[in-house]
Amino acid sequence: MNCIAAISTPLNTGGVAMIRISGDDALEVAKRVFSPKYPCNSVDTMEGYTAAYGFIEDEGEKLDDGILLVYKAPHSYTGENTAEITCHGGVYIAKRILQACIKAGASLASPGEFTKRALLNGKLSLTEAESVIDIINAGSEQMLKSARAQTDGALYRRIEGLCEKLLSVGAEISVWIDYPDESEDEDKISCDSWRERIEEISLDMESLLSSYDTGVIMREGITVAIAGTPNAGKSTLMNLLSGTEKSIVTDIEGTTRDIVEQSVSLGDIRLNLSDLAGIRKTEDRVEKIGVEKSISRLDTSQLILAMFDGSRALSDEDKALIEMLSGKNVIPVINKTDLDITIEKDYIKNHLGDYVEISAKNITGVEELKEAVITHCKIKKLSPESGFLANERQRECAIRAYEHIRAALYALSEGMTADVAGLEAEAALQCLYELSGKSASEEVIDSIFQRFCVGK
Ligand code: GDP
Repeated sequence: MNCIAAISTPLNTGGVAMIRISGDDALEVAKRVFSPKYPCNSVDTMEGYTAAYGFIEDEGEKLDDGILLVYKAPHSYTGENTAEITCHGGVYIAKRILQACIKAGASLASPGEFTKRALLNGKLSLTEAESVIDIINAGSEQMLKSARAQTDGALYRRIEGLCEKLLSVGAEISVWIDYPDESEDEDKISCDSWRERIEEISLDMESLLSSYDTGVIMREGITVAIAGTPNAGKSTLMNLLSGTEKSIVTDIEGTTRDIVEQSVSLGDIRLNLSDLAGIRKTEDRVEKIGVEKSISRLDTSQLILAMFDGSRALSDEDKALIEMLSGKNVIPVINKTDLDITIEKDYIKNHLGDYVEISAKNITGVEELKEAVITHCKIKKLSPESGFLANERQRECAIRAYEHIRAALYALSEGMTADVAGLEAEAALQCLYELSGKSASEEVIDSIFQRFCVGK
């Protein structure tokens, strides 16, 4: 492959910068721009994975001093000969060295071209390449964990497993098409066995598709709103869950006027909590804005914790809130169990479902509340190591594969000729190959790498 070069470190943000050169002639280009200080370190004789200190030059003019690191094909990120020159971190000097590399025979790398070459050289799969961008963009521990799980190739292995199963059934169907069974009984036995196995693949596909939600939850967490009339104890609960004093707790009604947000971890899951302003009718202009915001947040939250002060009977405002919440994903929370509970529990249960009783003040019932959150969000234990769909492209391929698998099953159950099922199984296989990158088109690959930065 022709030789490409780019600055691989972010510009202007560090003490050092690194220029990466990759391709058949990478070491030749490196030799033209880098002179080792000590003669024993001639670029020609350097082994892979070795470094040398020396001078970086542009046609004989010394630009900087730095380190050259050499990798020899196939033992490099791209799978090609690669040189990495580390210099002082200024933007100007890094660009000058890059120009020197271009003069010495390299061409400018396009976005993600190093990773694209790694893909083309079989160093990583398409799904692993996609996770590289997720690692770069990861802005939280959760996002990093999710991207890391993908770089380990878990999804790729999961898809490979599905492809093998499909290939084996598909091959049997093809043999049958060429040499149909002699008797009707044998025909039926074959057909039943194919159907059983495709059914199993279909179940695997369903679980793979539901893993997309796992990925979203891992990366982004769940949005949870804490709603309730003033003084129910929303801010106290928020502070309790987040371990900080972000929400103001007072016994003066209407203290929380704006939405207070906080991310907290619940085991592996991140809850993006918002403590909503007490929802009630008010004439106070500022409080009114808070209440309106809270109401619209109820619609966009994935889960609502509806809090009630258990030491009081339900007020009209509580009842209005209950009405507003009906049909939403709600966990009713009866607070202040350290006091005498006089609230109408049955009314709450009948309108909003099973409630959890807590004392936010004395920290009791919190474990039960966490359990209820997990059950309500239908979150199974997240196991990223078993592979999950990480983006919309992957999900779209998986949906198409699943539709073909269902069509194959339909063909077999409805007594159509086996070749229809065979064609559908083959089409499903192609979608899975597209997902893993085995047969992704140039267009798909290019669109993925456009999201990368130059130098990666
Ligand atoms: P919010 O208006 O719903 O945010 O309610 P706050 O969290 O500000 O709490 C209102 C009042 O109720 C404060 O005086 C809290 O100390 C008190 N409070 C909150 N939770 C409990 C609880 O579990 N038991 C008791 N006895 N008081 C509580």
